[in-house]
Amino acid sequence: MIIAKTVAEVRSQVREWKKEGLTVGLVPTMGYLHEGHASLIDEAVRQCDRVVASDFVNPTQFGPGEDLESYPRDFDHDCQLLEEHGCNMVFHPSVDEMYPDGNGKTDTYIEILDDMPRQLCGKTRPIHFRGVCTVVGKLFNIVTPDKAFFGQKDAQQLAIIRRMVRDLSYGIEIVGCPIVRENDGLAKSSRNTYLSEDERKAALVLSQAIRMAEKMVADGERDAKVILDAMTAHVEKEPKAKIDYISAVDGVTMANVDKIEGNVLIAMAVYIGSTRLIDNCIVNA
Ligand code: AMP
Repeated sequence: MIIAKTVAEVRSQVREWKKEGLTVGLVPTMGYLHEGHASLIDEAVRQCDRVVASDFVNPTQFGPGEDLESYPRDFDHDCQLLEEHGCNMVFHPSVDEMYPDGNGKTDTYIEILDDMPRQLCGKTRPIHFRGVCTVVGKLFNIVTPDKAFFGQKDAQQLAIIRRMVRDLSYGIEIVGCPIVRENDGLAKSSRNTYLSEDERKAALVLSQAIRMAEKMVADGERDAKVILDAMTAHVEKEPKAKIDYISAVDGVTMANVDKIEGNVLIAMAVYIGSTRLIDNCIVNA
């Protein structure tokens, strides 16, 4: 596997592949990789001739007081996992390589101006999706992939990237991949490493509430409030949990819905101790 640290290295390698007529898949990540990330690499390997993963903790998507400095990092382990899953190149740039103005700052952003990035996670993380769109847009320009792979785990991010690709005419196919979970249901996340043993147990309320919502919809419940109230009551039974949001939104626009009709995203963010975890499901009715 090629380890590229500069934009120039990525460009020249991708140019070679494209000359040979090979298709290129991109899997953007912030590193500290686990089986969730590996499932995206596997899907990219299935669908593309060559696979590039990016491994970069992107400063522009972290707000003040968030975990930019403490975000877990283990590049050697990441390389091992990527290589085992057949990734051809990892792009691991410095902050200055990605943001030449220095200190992870930029004056040029990609930002969706309507409500979409201000719903759900955007309520408490107002600059988050502007940073995500900007870094993903840069990665698209650097790697010029045919396809890019994102996890349903970050459902709002996936919807926003699809919108960005449509609005800015990126000729890139966005592939969404299902949430990978631990055996007991907890959605895999790099941030799970922050949890103490007790918090790890408490964190199960998220996936339990998601399963509860899926079952209620399967049993015929169509009133979003009834479902969200049941989820809220379940999470509130756990003293270590503090709800950021539990919402039902349109799967494309992220606007709140009252009725479960068509493609609905039921999504939640909950603090377990000081760790903010997210989970979600898509329901169709
Ligand atoms: P991150 O490194 O957290 O920025 O995630 C990089 C990509 O991996 C994103 O597209 C995530 O949605 C995806 N991802 C993270 N965790 C999971 C998971 N448990 N299952 C599926 N995809 C995931």
